[in-house]
Amino acid sequence: MSTKAIDKNKLSELLNSLLFKQTLIAPVEAEEDILLFKNVESADQVVLDYQNTITPVKDWFFSQTEELFEFKNKITELEINDLPATDGEYILFGARPCDLKSVELLDLVFDEDGEFSDSFYKEKRDRTTIIGLSCSEPGAYCFCNSLDGLSPTATCNADIMLTEMDGDYLVEVLTDKGEKLVSDNSSYFSDKYSEEDKETRTEEIVSNMKLTVDVDDIEAIMQKEDVYLSDYWQELSLKCLGCAVCTYICPTCHCYDIRDYSRGNAGIRYRCWDSCMFNDFTEAAGDHNPRPTRRERVRQRFMHKLRFFDERYGDTGCVGCGRCLEKCPVNLDITRVISDVKELA
Ligand code: SF4
Ligand code: SF4
Repeated sequence: MSTKAIDKNKLSELLNSLLFKQTLIAPVEAEEDILLFKNVESADQVVLDYQNTITPVKDWFFSQTEELFEFKNKITELEINDLPATDGEYILFGARPCDLKSVELLDLVFDEDGEFSDSFYKEKRDRTTIIGLSCSEPGAYCFCNSLDGLSPTATCNADIMLTEMDGDYLVEVLTDKGEKLVSDNSSYFSDKYSEEDKETRTEEIVSNMKLTVDVDDIEAIMQKEDVYLSDYWQELSLKCLGCAVCTYICPTCHCYDIRDYSRGNAGIRYRCWDSCMFNDFTEAAGDHNPRPTRRERVRQRFMHKLRFFDERYGDTGCVGCGRCLEKCPVNLDITRVISDVKELA
């Protein structure tokens, strides 16, 4: 790993230069006050001083809807055709530490031990170089610093990490992909900073965190039978509208449905984001539903984030991005749930 610097003006030039060779995905203002990660045609479109996009970077690696293959029913046989392969390399620019961490968690799900690999996810993942961007001003709902290994400047699995300093950015070059990007564009970078400069800057930024939550032992507490069976989940579920906003905007939620769109005897199979907050998510044949009421569905959401993900993958399924706190229409707040559950134990 090496540490470098890039001037703020030169960053725009670098992004414009990268655009000629690769597809650049970065935070842009899609509509007034609506920030999304999108394909960018000019560095002028890129927003640098944002807190969090509405949808997280999972939208790039695991799209809201994604076509899987085409089919044609020929009466005696079914013809299945792969969709045309895409080529090229991608740069994902501006991912915040919480979203970077979420990609690390999604890697565990979509490429488990390299054994169960989702080719659609993996292809984009392998071809994407990630340039992360530390938060200079943590938002009112952010609590990443309360989670293990996370902070507003954590590098997680970025290839390159930028941290805003006074007039320029401190650049951490973290992987082979990052080394290649920097060596191919070496004229934009200079030697100025050290790891100690990053530590000092991190301390400054962390001192501005507004929200903290004590997550110690939360997985063990969520495993207690009394907690699982508590009336608390019924009380909590009375507030929930079942709108699923919390799961769609969550960077670590990854459930999807598979559907066919057909016309005549031909069609496309596609997948689209789904949500455990919907009544029919677990509906099975014979009208059976293991999560028949909102009580089970709300409990499942928090159990998955704070217990089941950890049991399966050894890490917490929440990255403290604060999106669900901010966007839930009835203020159903995971930091409050963590504190409440600790009181139950
Ligand atoms: S956003 Fe809030 S109201 Fe909507 S499903 Fe999630 S917890 Fe329920
Ligand atoms: S549960 Fe909420 S705070 Fe945690 S990662 Fe998902 S959206 Fe962010």
